[in-house]
Amino acid sequence: MKIGIIGAGFTGLSAAYVLVKKGHQVTVFESANKPGGLAGGFRAKNWEWAIEQHYHHLFVSDNAIRILAEEINHEINFSRPKTSILIGNKIYQLDSPLSLLIFPHIPFFSRVRAGASLLYLKLANNWKSLETLTARDYLIRTMGNSAWKVLWEPLFVGKFGNFADKIPASWFWARIKKRSASLGYPVRGFEDLAQTLSEQIQKLGGVVLYRKQVISIEKKELFTLRLSDKSRFEFDKVICTLPTTIFTKITKGLPDVYLNTLKKLEGLGAVTLVLSLNKSFFEDGTYWLNINNRKYPFLALVEHTNLVDKKYYNNENIIYIGNYLPAGHDYFVKSETELVNLFLPALREINPKFNKSWIIDSYIFKAFFAQPIVPLNYSNKIPSIKTPIDGLYLANIQQVYPWDRGTNYAVELGQKVAKIISH
Ligand SMILES: Cc1cc2nc3c(=O)[nH]c(=O)nc-3n(C[C@H](O)[C@H](O)[C@H](O)COP(=O)(O)OP(=O)(O)OC[C@H]3O[C@@H](n4cnc5c(N)ncnc54)[C@H](O)[C@@H]3O)c2cc1C
Repeated sequence: MKIGIIGAGFTGLSAAYVLVKKGHQVTVFESANKPGGLAGGFRAKNWEWAIEQHYHHLFVSDNAIRILAEEINHEINFSRPKTSILIGNKIYQLDSPLSLLIFPHIPFFSRVRAGASLLYLKLANNWKSLETLTARDYLIRTMGNSAWKVLWEPLFVGKFGNFADKIPASWFWARIKKRSASLGYPVRGFEDLAQTLSEQIQKLGGVVLYRKQVISIEKKELFTLRLSDKSRFEFDKVICTLPTTIFTKITKGLPDVYLNTLKKLEGLGAVTLVLSLNKSFFEDGTYWLNINNRKYPFLALVEHTNLVDKKYYNNENIIYIGNYLPAGHDYFVKSETELVNLFLPALREINPKFNKSWIIDSYIFKAFFAQPIVPLNYSNKIPSIKTPIDGLYLANIQQVYPWDRGTNYAVELGQKVAKIISH
């Protein structure tokens, strides 16, 4: 069977890999000049490894991507970096039962309740009953108001903005359930892992085309994909891994009822500022800092080189400053210099020794669709992989649930759509 796959992120590549192994003729179209999609990277001059445009790591529980990486001989290293939270302008390590027990900003009894509740979520499997409640109501009920106010509300507001009070408890459960203290990182980065996968697909006879933007999908006898360079290709079946809004724009003949259900799905974009520094930002070795104070103009501060050795980046220290934002937010039109200036006072409050002269270079990356907003009872609302057009399949991050989207679930989704097609 001739199968066209749109997008060479982890979903598209994983589907392609399964399908070529089954003997299908597969062509992947990718608008960028390299694979990886949202997990794609960049490399400054003198860096041995590329890094992700947006911070990335894996959990021990990310089995699908770990098994795939092993099969294609791409190593993933695990280590246990430090995760902390910022309260006021002080950093507290908060990544173990003991660190929660001595965390001073909520009463002792609340800490015990929070610990017991986290343990319950880690062991529980009944996520279906949790998708009918908001995370806010659930967390207040199980951990108490002070734990919600200090530990969780600032993160929900920072991540989901106006949607913070509407996120189901199942989303929170999934985050706790799959989280591990040890974090993984592919040797040479996620983009290189995607590259290894792409090369394997090509070795097995598949075709992966870069700088090929699909602008329309149409079915007559066969599917015709039209590209921005005016070329066209025909297939028996097509898998589209693009965000739903692009899928609905480029696909001809989708029924209105279906389009109306897809239009109800919501999501946020991401704007990430990356700074390479001549000094380490965190004096205590923190890798990930959650900013639990909404007066700061960012949600997370991540020192990548406290997870991965800086020797791979010409001994530069790399920090990510991350935000999830609605598409119209003004950060999307700011330059890296404007964001550096905007963030500078906050960076100085977190580390008073920090100075602009530490910055070697700055980079800005913008993704317009980066985080689905999952509503209550989402299991009844997820768009199906099979679309109303026979032979056309949709597989994107809005179908990852109850887990939060991630490269591991992109691999699982790609494998799932490939299995559906092959049957
Ligand atoms: C800020 C941020 C942090 C994250 N952190 C983590 C993390 O720590 N760990 C983790 O595992 N995951 C993380 N993720 C999520 C992870 O990156 C995604 O879930 C995953 O990469 C999605 O893969 P995908 O293939 O489904 O989609 P995408 O990666 O979006 O792939 C779609 C591909 O389609 C291409 N494309 C778009 N339009 C066209 C067109 N018209 N024609 C042809 N090609 C087109 C795009 O260029 C892209 O390559 C993070 C994401 C973000 C934004």
